[in-house]
Amino acid sequence: MKGVADLKFCPNCGADVEELIDGVCRNCFTRAFSPIAEIQRVEIRFCPNCGAHYCHGRWVYGDLSTSIREEILKTVKISALLDEFELSLDCEIGDAPVGLIPARLHISGRICGQPFEKEQDIEVKIIRESCTRCSRIAGGYYEATVQIRAKDRIPTDEEIDACLRILDDRIAHHDSFVTKLRDVKTGVDIYVGDQGAAQDGAKEIIKQFGGKSITSPKLVGKRNGKNIYRLTIVVRLPGLVVGDIAYHMGKIMLITSIAKHAGGIYLEDGTQAGKIDLSELKFCMKASEAKEAVLLMVYEKEVEILDPETFRAVTIKKPLFLTEGAGEEVRIVKIDDRVFLVPGMSR
Ligand SMILES: [Zn+2]
Ligand SMILES: [Zn+2]
Repeated sequence: MKGVADLKFCPNCGADVEELIDGVCRNCFTRAFSPIAEIQRVEIRFCPNCGAHYCHGRWVYGDLSTSIREEILKTVKISALLDEFELSLDCEIGDAPVGLIPARLHISGRICGQPFEKEQDIEVKIIRESCTRCSRIAGGYYEATVQIRAKDRIPTDEEIDACLRILDDRIAHHDSFVTKLRDVKTGVDIYVGDQGAAQDGAKEIIKQFGGKSITSPKLVGKRNGKNIYRLTIVVRLPGLVVGDIAYHMGKIMLITSIAKHAGGIYLEDGTQAGKIDLSELKFCMKASEAKEAVLLMVYEKEVEILDPETFRAVTIKKPLFLTEGAGEEVRIVKIDDRVFLVPGMSR
């Protein structure tokens, strides 16, 4: 049994105890114990323009509350005396965070063998700042220009729309942006924030539409002793489009698909043509220029058509695609004094 002489006196609460921690009894020590070095505030940079925030050394689009939590947990210094501790954080963040946002840090654990719990209020300061991307857009920054053109013609509005969609998709994939879009007489110029995104987009356009691209770098300055280049990428779509009628090795073909190669239908007999090199095709006319004519007779291998210009009956081979019967309207083209039926372009 311990004698009274072994007990120590707590100067704080006056209790007699066996041992003092930091000069006070255990109760007094635990009550006054601060498990984390005081932090009142963490700061987080937030782009009000696009909603990105700065975390781990870069601008990100992830969940802001997760980043705030990481930032706080990274900043707090936990006392080595605290065992088996847990930290949790309450913080309400709206869509457009501004100013100071209150947060509450909840800490639980064990200190000197006794359970311990504490809450601490922390302020999260939102620093509004344009992210790199937004300040670059605002400053008209671009690394490459993609010029959409077509060989011996002007790209159609549909083609330009489709090209822009492809580009947008690739640019988003690279986390980049379009600084400027400029309509020019021969097509459209797109100013892109990132060279890789521009090259990727141009490649994808050609994959889908055919044609060629030419890239030329232009020296625009030096940064840290390194030459800085801007790229001009001219995407030249093929001279032919779907719906064009072209000469192919002495035959007349309606183009029904075009990418790396062309596919189509020979008008004379309706047979299919595929994988044709674009250089083997020569533009003849547009299928939309076809005229209406009356189908007079349909035989097994031939048909008779009333030529709407001469009002004479013309007999031609019956093409595979013909579905109309005698007396019905068909579409025809006249090429080199020959009459061809044109299939309906189902779209
Ligand atoms: Zn005490
Ligand atoms: Zn931004």
